[in-house]
Amino acid sequence: MLDKFKDECGVFGIYDRDGLDVSLLTYFGLYSIQHRGQESAGIAVSNGDEIIYHKGTGLVPEVFDEDNIDRLRQGSIAIGHVRHSTSDGNLPQNTQPLVTKYKKGNMAIAHNGALINASTLRDELENVGAIFQTNTDSEVMANIIARTSDKGLEEALKTMMSRIKGAYALTMMTEDSLIGIRDPHGIRPLALGILDDSYVIASETCAFDVIGAEYIRDVRPGEIIIITKDGLKSIQTPVPLESSFCLFEFVYFARTDSVIDGISVQASRREAGRILARESPADADIVIGVPDSGTTAALGYAEEANIPYAEGLIKNRYVGRTFIKPTQAIREQDIRIKLNALRRIVRGKRIVMVDDSIVRGTTSRAIVDMLRLTGAREIHMRISSPIIKYPCHFGIDTPDRQALIGANFSEEEICEQLGVDSLNYISIDGLLKTVESSGASFCLGCFNGKYPIECKGGCK
Ligand code: SF4
Repeated sequence: MLDKFKDECGVFGIYDRDGLDVSLLTYFGLYSIQHRGQESAGIAVSNGDEIIYHKGTGLVPEVFDEDNIDRLRQGSIAIGHVRHSTSDGNLPQNTQPLVTKYKKGNMAIAHNGALINASTLRDELENVGAIFQTNTDSEVMANIIARTSDKGLEEALKTMMSRIKGAYALTMMTEDSLIGIRDPHGIRPLALGILDDSYVIASETCAFDVIGAEYIRDVRPGEIIIITKDGLKSIQTPVPLESSFCLFEFVYFARTDSVIDGISVQASRREAGRILARESPADADIVIGVPDSGTTAALGYAEEANIPYAEGLIKNRYVGRTFIKPTQAIREQDIRIKLNALRRIVRGKRIVMVDDSIVRGTTSRAIVDMLRLTGAREIHMRISSPIIKYPCHFGIDTPDRQALIGANFSEEEICEQLGVDSLNYISIDGLLKTVESSGASFCLGCFNGKYPIECKGGCK
């Protein structure tokens, strides 16, 4: 397991108006956002009368086979979900989409993000008789919708949004509608696309590319999109003055080939490398990237610094999940299974090594040791994110503050602990420059401790 923040989920949805195979397209869509969650996957489809589903723990190709995709083939609306488990563990009952019956019919919900008031709402709902079968935030949302459904679907969705607080990008469905919702701060991504005449909603645009759909735009913060046989309806709910999109999506979570708010993730990562080279130059013979996520910024650094880029680290492409628990000792061995240093490239060289982030520092230390053993003369580490000093409360799996190396040590101390000759991070202003053409505002919580939404008792 690499020492990275982990995204917790990805969502997908499609409303067919062209005779498409929605179950298979959802399967491919989920495949393309597998990087957002590897512990469970699920697809729910509606045939107009009922919602049927298949879900389970494991990667998308482990959960689905030809038989269960065939069984889901009778539908014309589908949503899907991939999940990285949170503190509630990888329990089978927490797999999504959550499919429930209520007095108006059936609904299914797939959620990316985390609510900060889920336990308060759960207590309130239990006090008035609600029974929960999962630990998920989705079930809290489903409960609120079900209890307010007499007002009609639109009003129930607005009521739900007025009561929940936190990060949420949702794909939902009833028997006859596909729904996409993004929280008022717009913390997690959600994009709208079209395939022929059929609308598609997904966490990332790479899911559109894989099925041949075109990106239309991002779902706006606070927007509810309802797609029915009559077309697409957009409802804008109240939003704060400034949005707070997760800046870390650009640093690491999103796939390099995705586009968010009109900005190419690849272009922003490359620009981060260029800015890093201007902010923190180094005398070196080669620039290498830590694959895969550090590679694009490393190319930008090399270009700007006019130092040759070289493949100094090679990733083993066939490493899957392992049964071994990620203890400290195992992590160090683990990195050698995943990465190898190319002796011919690094021996005797002064190296700039670019990575996207340092969380605990364990992986970085192991990579530096490997490069030294392979004969690297100097190692200048450059990081294309600012120092991570705080955990995330909005749907990202992060260690506690005491485990974050950037929260507990100065840059000089980290440099010494990692055993590098120099260490520099991109500045917050520098990183913001890479996305300024979006005109959006960003959450910087894990860098500066200023979160867009205050947690009860304070976000620590
Ligand atoms: S705290 Fe960091 S990881 Fe979490 S939403 Fe904000 S920028 Fe993203």
